[in-house]
Amino acid sequence: MEKLYLICFFIFGAVFSSFLCVVGFRLPQKINFVKGTSRCDTCYHKLHFFEKIPILSYIFQGGKCKWCKNQIPIIIPVCEILGATLFSLAFYRFGFSYNLLIALLISTLFIVVLVTDVKYFIIPDSILIIYGILLIVVQYFNVGPKELLYHIATGIGLFILMYLIMILAEKAFKKESLGGADVKLLFLFGLVLDPMLGIISIFIASVIALPVSLLVLVKNKSHMIPFGPFLILAVIIILYSGITIDKILNILT
Ligand SMILES: [Zn+2]
Repeated sequence: MEKLYLICFFIFGAVFSSFLCVVGFRLPQKINFVKGTSRCDTCYHKLHFFEKIPILSYIFQGGKCKWCKNQIPIIIPVCEILGATLFSLAFYRFGFSYNLLIALLISTLFIVVLVTDVKYFIIPDSILIIYGILLIVVQYFNVGPKELLYHIATGIGLFILMYLIMILAEKAFKKESLGGADVKLLFLFGLVLDPMLGIISIFIASVIALPVSLLVLVKNKSHMIPFGPFLILAVIIILYSGITIDKILNILT
């Protein structure tokens, strides 16, 4: 029975991520993402059912739109595979629970931010507000009102810490190196993590982002990499691995 659920979560993750890609592509451009989701974004040709199947349609069409032969952005199948994997892993890890809901919320946030931050270097405020509200509601039922207040306070603390890091980085590098959205993201992290794990998430994100930014620097001669996806990926690693401060201290000593 569990295998069947895992397959269901994989398919659901792929389909939902496919929709989130459309949101990620269209929201920053203020294009309606509910209407006309089943059209090619280049030639506007209406897509058939089989052209909308996540992952598979990309493979069978060789990564091109059947009608205008334009390349379908590679980020779409990548997000679909990531979403499918994260959804099934979340179910495998948490079963039916509030923690599953939190894992799914953080995973879907990762997919949307991956698209908006890589493509436009922004994370729309509307996305952050919606996820903030959803996480607060889920945590209210998950940990109760008292613990929720603690998490909101943690979020504010992490927000201030990240803001200070941003100011320091600006002074050190004499240019903007972190976005305001990265600072706001830290508030969301406080809603699901303890303070120390929130701080560790910044550290993990920096460690993963460093080789990627060097690669981008060598390949594209660009200093700009979106940091948001790395931050959220760090939270996913922390949540899915179930690591705690005690375990980290145990490893270190
Ligand atoms: Zn097309």
